[in-house]
Amino acid sequence: MSDQKPLSPDTLAIIAGRPAAGPDALVNFPIALSSTYVAGGLLGYGRYGNETWSALESAITALEGGQTLTFSSGMAAISSFFSILPVGAVVVASDQGYSGVMALLNALHASGKIEVRFVNLSKTEIVLEALSGAALLWAESPTNPGLTVADLPVLIAEAKLRGCGVGVDNTFATPLLQRPLSMGADVVAHSVTKYLSGHSDIIMGSLSTNDSALYSRLSEMRKVTGSIPGPFESWLALRGLRTFPLRFERAQSNALTIARRLEGHSKVSAVNYPGLESNEYHDRAKGFMNGFGAVLSFTVIGGAKEADRVCESSKIITNATSLGGVESLWERRRRWQGESTLIPESLIRLSVGCENIDDLWADIELALENA
Ligand SMILES: *Cc1c(COP(=O)(O)O)cnc(C)c1O
Repeated sequence: MSDQKPLSPDTLAIIAGRPAAGPDALVNFPIALSSTYVAGGLLGYGRYGNETWSALESAITALEGGQTLTFSSGMAAISSFFSILPVGAVVVASDQGYSGVMALLNALHASGKIEVRFVNLSKTEIVLEALSGAALLWAESPTNPGLTVADLPVLIAEAKLRGCGVGVDNTFATPLLQRPLSMGADVVAHSVTKYLSGHSDIIMGSLSTNDSALYSRLSEMRKVTGSIPGPFESWLALRGLRTFPLRFERAQSNALTIARRLEGHSKVSAVNYPGLESNEYHDRAKGFMNGFGAVLSFTVIGGAKEADRVCESSKIITNATSLGGVESLWERRRRWQGESTLIPESLIRLSVGCENIDDLWADIELALENA
C-alpha cells in the first residue's frame, strides 16, 4: 500500500469501532447482553469487559488518541482517576470548573485524602506558582460555565517539566478542537453524556491515556469499583458518535452567530464565548484550538429573576441543565447550590444545538423581551 495521509476525524468517527468486514459480517457491533462468558477467553466476566464497550472505546481512541476506558458516567471516570492519587497528593484545579468535580475535590480534601489548590486556570503565572510541589494539574478548558480558556500547551509543558501529572477534562472542547494527549497530558476525561453521544439520552464517561501502565491501573480500578458502563448505553453512545463531527459543525456555527447577535442586544450585559473577537481569550484559543465550541454563556441586565424569566419563556430552547445534544438547552447556572459563587446570578448557559439558526434566534429574541 502507498503512504496514506492520516484520516480526518470526520471519517474516523464513522469507520472506527466496527467489526472486521467479511461476507455477512455485521456492520455494527451488537448490544452484547451477557453477564458472563464461557471460560478460556480474555473477558471472563461482564464486569471485566464487554464487546460493545470495546467498540465505543476504540472509536473514542481514534479521535482522542492513546487507549480508552469507558465508565458509567463522566464523574465515575474522573473519580476513578482521582482515586489512584497517593494520600496527601496536592491537586491544582480550576476555581470555576464543573461543579461536580469541585464538589468531589472538596470532599476528598475534607477527608484528608488529598490537598486541593483551586486557582484561576486562565492566569498562567498563578497556576505555575500553585504547581510547586503538586502531584496533579486537573485542567478544564474552556471552563463550565464561564468559558474561560487556559493556555493548555504552556500549562501542560510546564507541569510535566516540574514532574507533575496532568489530566484534562475535554468535555467542552472535544477532540475536534484540541487533543491534550498530543500536548503531553497523561489523561483526558470526557463526559460522554455530552457531545460524543450527543442526544441527551445517556450518562457515560471516558478516560483516555497514552501511558499503558496508567491504563492498566485505571482498568483495574474500573473492575474493582464496578463503575462500568451498560452495553445498551455504550451502543447508543457509539451510534451517536457517528454523527458527532457533523453535529458539532452545525452547533458551532449556530453558536458563533448567536454570540455575535447577543453581544449587540440591549437586554444583555455580557457574552462569554471565545469565538468573539472582543473576547479576552480569543487570541489564546485561536493559537491552539481548531474552533471555539458550541456552549456560550451570557448575563442579562437585572438579576436572578430576570434571567429565570428568560429561561422560562423560550419555546424551542429547553430550560434544562446539561449540554452537547442536538437540541438547544439553557439554564440559569446559579439555580444550583453547588455552582461557584464566581459565576454571576444572572448568568445563563446556553448549549447551542443543531436547530435552524433563524428559528433559534427568533426564540431567543422573544425570550429576552421578557427579561
Ligand atoms: C457534565 C460534565 C461532567 C460530568 O459528567 P457526567 O457524565 O454528568 O457524570 C464533567 N465535566 C464537565 C465539563 C461536564 O460538563
